[in-house]
Amino acid sequence: MKRVIYPGTFDPVTNGHIDIVKRAVALFDEIIVTVAKNPTKTEVFSVEERVEMLTEVMKEFPTVRVDSFNGLVVDHARALGAIGIIRGLRAVSDFEYEFQMALMNRKLAEDISTILLMPHARYTYLNSTIVRNLAAFHGDVSGFVPEIVEAKLKEKFPKND
Ligand code: ADP
Repeated sequence: MKRVIYPGTFDPVTNGHIDIVKRAVALFDEIIVTVAKNPTKTEVFSVEERVEMLTEVMKEFPTVRVDSFNGLVVDHARALGAIGIIRGLRAVSDFEYEFQMALMNRKLAEDISTILLMPHARYTYLNSTIVRNLAAFHGDVSGFVPEIVEAKLKEKFPKND
C-alpha cells in the first residue's frame, strides 16, 4: 500500500491543486490531502472550512482522504504511515522553496521522500492568493476553482460589502 500525503494551506483549494491530486492518484494507492495551519499566511477560510471544501471536491476520487494537522509535515506523514510528500511545482520560482523544504524534511525523516509534480501549463500562474484577491474585488474566479469554492468565496466577499 503506497500512501502519500499532499500538505498545503489550500486557502482555498484551486483547480491547480486538483490537477496535482489527479496526477498523484494515478501514481499512488492512497493520497491524504492534509490542511496545514500556516502561521505565516493570513487566512480567509478557517481550517474547518478548508477541510469541508476539500472533502466535497475530493469526493470524486475514492483513494483520496482529507484531514488537517498542526505541526511538522514529516511527523504527520509518519503518523499516517505515508512514504512520501507530494508538492506541486509550477515554475522555477517555486523551485528554491520546495527544494529547501524537501531537503529539510529529508534531514528530519530520511525514509520519507518528497515527490514534486508539475501541473498542466494552464495552472502554472494560479495560486490561492490570486484567487482570494480576485474574489475580494468580485472578479470572476470560475475556471480557477471548483463551483463550490466559487460559491463559498461569494459568501465571504458579498457584493454589498
Ligand atoms: P503552501 O502554503 O504549503 O504552499 P498551498 O496551498 O499554497 O500551500 O500549496 C500547496 C502545494 O500545492 C504547494 O506544493 C504548491 O506549490 C502547490 N500548488 C499550489 N497551486 C498550484 C497550482 N496552481 N498548480 C500546481 N501546484 C500548485
